[in-house]
Amino acid sequence: MEWQWAGNGSTGLRVGKVVCVGRNYVEHAKELGNTVPEKPLLFLKPSTAVCSLEEGFAIPRDKGRVHHELELAVLMGNWLKDGSEQEARQAMAGIGLALDLTLRDRQEELKQQGYPWEEAKAFDDSCPTSRFIPMAEIEQLDAIPLALHRNGELRQSGHSGQMIIPILKLISHISRIFTLEPGDVVLTGTPAGVGELAPGDELIVEIPGKMRVLSQVR
Ligand code: ZN
Repeated sequence: MEWQWAGNGSTGLRVGKVVCVGRNYVEHAKELGNTVPEKPLLFLKPSTAVCSLEEGFAIPRDKGRVHHELELAVLMGNWLKDGSEQEARQAMAGIGLALDLTLRDRQEELKQQGYPWEEAKAFDDSCPTSRFIPMAEIEQLDAIPLALHRNGELRQSGHSGQMIIPILKLISHISRIFTLEPGDVVLTGTPAGVGELAPGDELIVEIPGKMRVLSQVR
């Protein structure tokens, strides 16, 4: 499976791993009763977690609450290891949107026991992802808006200027821990407003003015 451009056509980049950051917006950390970490809290989703947001996606039905976390997604076009912020910028291919689907009840159990989160975060189809806008069409990395509407109601909205760790700094930091390869995606954290999904939900997720995706939960 290859990533697609928003204007249609393949990027030529094969879907790789997804590196995620928890608690990168203050208001979201607060809504879950979490402290704001000093260093980014990172976790991974495998390529098998990725599915198409545009085509709609199925959620697990017997594993407790499934939450949506709308996030800006950065597609890597080049390798990055121990990269500076400038090198991070040069290695980025595009910006899109992804849902970091989370089995919230399972995550809470795992957190309480001090166990890793993969079962709650990295399951199949836990990362519905949009097509990507090429970097040439993104004017300002620190002013990208994002919003999610569920069944006609605005549930999440924010912009990249509200991130605790801005995009380039985050990607530079990640590359000191995990080598980023072409086709990897970085999810940059979710603004406040995470909430439950149910089969049959109609979603609109957007980067207002640039991209609007209709999606359906099965
Ligand atoms: Zn998330």
